[in-house]
Amino acid sequence: MKWLWSLLLVAFAASGLTIGATYLKAFQLFELLAFDTWVRLLPLEAKENRVVVVTISESDINELGQWPLSDLTLSQLITKINQYQPRAIGLDIYRGLPVKPGTAELEAVFRSTPNLIGVEKAIGKSVKTSAILEAQGQTALADVVKDTDGKIRRGLLSIELNDGQIQLGLATILALMYLEAEGIEPELKGDTGIISIGQTELVPFKGNDGGYVRADDGGIQVLMNYRGKEDNFAQISILEVLNDQVEEDSIKDRIVLIGSIAESLHDFLPTPYSINRANQLEDLPGVFIHANLTSQIISGALDGRGSIKTISEFEEWIWIFTWAFSVSLSNLILLNCQCNSRQILLILGSTVLSLVIPGIVLMGIGYLLFLAGFWLPVISPLFSLTLSTITISWYYNQSQTKLASIDSLTAIPNRRSFEAFLQQKWGETEKKQQTLSLVLCDVDFFKKYNDTYGHQAGDSCLQEVAKVLAKSVRNSDLVARYGGEEFVVVLPNTPPEIAIVVAQRICDRLKSLSMPHINSEAGDYVTMSCGVANSNFEGVNSLEELIAKADKALYKAKAQGRDRAVLAK
Ligand code: GH3
Ligand code: MG
Ligand code: MG
Repeated sequence: MKWLWSLLLVAFAASGLTIGATYLKAFQLFELLAFDTWVRLLPLEAKENRVVVVTISESDINELGQWPLSDLTLSQLITKINQYQPRAIGLDIYRGLPVKPGTAELEAVFRSTPNLIGVEKAIGKSVKTSAILEAQGQTALADVVKDTDGKIRRGLLSIELNDGQIQLGLATILALMYLEAEGIEPELKGDTGIISIGQTELVPFKGNDGGYVRADDGGIQVLMNYRGKEDNFAQISILEVLNDQVEEDSIKDRIVLIGSIAESLHDFLPTPYSINRANQLEDLPGVFIHANLTSQIISGALDGRGSIKTISEFEEWIWIFTWAFSVSLSNLILLNCQCNSRQILLILGSTVLSLVIPGIVLMGIGYLLFLAGFWLPVISPLFSLTLSTITISWYYNQSQTKLASIDSLTAIPNRRSFEAFLQQKWGETEKKQQTLSLVLCDVDFFKKYNDTYGHQAGDSCLQEVAKVLAKSVRNSDLVARYGGEEFVVVLPNTPPEIAIVVAQRICDRLKSLSMPHINSEAGDYVTMSCGVANSNFEGVNSLEELIAKADKALYKAKAQGRDRAVLAK
């Protein structure tokens, strides 16, 4: 029971510390890296054919011999795409200023293409879209939300502009246009902020969700549930469109996103798929981030594809505590197990078994939960379980060591402690040229005491004797149970004339307790005899000789009638 309380206390403190450190962002980066690992470990998903990306590559630009694309080329591109009857076209290219020739043609296309959405940037340095699209309400945000490490793990569904207007993100508008044709409209669930749409619910991201700590949760964001990299989306190159090399079915009733994948345009963003941050090839072109978010909304609404869910902060605390408690508990059980391999377990137990295995299990469970759609912190519970387990095993070892040095009946140091103490003090005495005294004590006629009052009363009597002894010496002295009804007192830095006084005082105090001993031949009460020896005595060259001298003196005390202290010669 005592252990259970200690365990609870330690797990509680370790979790508290961990939670405190969490709020200081000690684990955020590592939690995000764990998140990335799981995203990469997820089974490959089916290709998203409802979202087609019209790509503009480096070689396309070279072939066309122009960048930015002229208004003429762009107008031709949009016209051709629209002939295949897509549900929506997202132009993920900033297009605020005219690029001659063909400005008039492009303006005409803008006016006559109601399913075309242009992009603008609202966060930071704002970038405007075409005034015509703006006036027609055909603009969306292309802004992305970057984490502190630059990676994109959240998608921006909408923001509230300074004038109070809500501006939707590119993916949001395209997905809504697509879903509208399916008869699906978003609905706000009361004032929870949750948006119900088809078979899914979009839960707005909060700053402390998952492994995040005080992240900017402005606007409406969701955790990105990546479908995959470029290969997971249908792609057509700009030249294929311009040269009429497109199969009719590949665009009809789909969402088309037009965007650059050319290295020279630097529209690449790191995502959970990026392992080596120095390698731009691992980053995802911005247009595919919009494609992912678009797919996330429509596949959620139509297929019920899950979003990434998190648990409340309080639930996360319980999660952290549960790991600290359960792993520390199993560690204690291991340490306590009386099996043959206990010694091995003791050594391995507190390190490998108690930390590495739970660590692997924790990571495994974390991944399985992620597979099931839940992102729970794993680094903070790993920290708390490590802290808690190390503390509790340290505490356990301390108490085991203490237990091994204490006599179980009298609760004073046992013979082993006495030997270690005497050894240490003997060394110091020699080094500092001091003098050390030793007192051996033996209860008088104790066999008779047992015979008269019973063994249990004998035990209680020994406990009383131990108390008297312990109370009669200085803190720097040691009283130990030598064995049976024999006790020993080590008095470091004490000359024999003082030691004999101490010994006599012990005898007197015991007697003055007046514990009846009717069959004692030394009196009416429990008494003891003591023999005192000193390290400076002649013939004392070793510990053994010191003890033997004290024993001899004790024998003398017995012979002289007991209930007395005798100094050796
Ligand atoms: P003396 O005055 O010569 O020392 O006589 P004694 O009877 O005390 O000496 P002896 O060594 O013959 O007997 C010691 C007794 O102490 C025998 C043993 O049963 C008893 N004893 C030793 N350890 C314990 C113990 O832990 N509990 C109890 N109740 N008795 C113990
Ligand atoms: Mg004895
Ligand atoms: Mg005795």
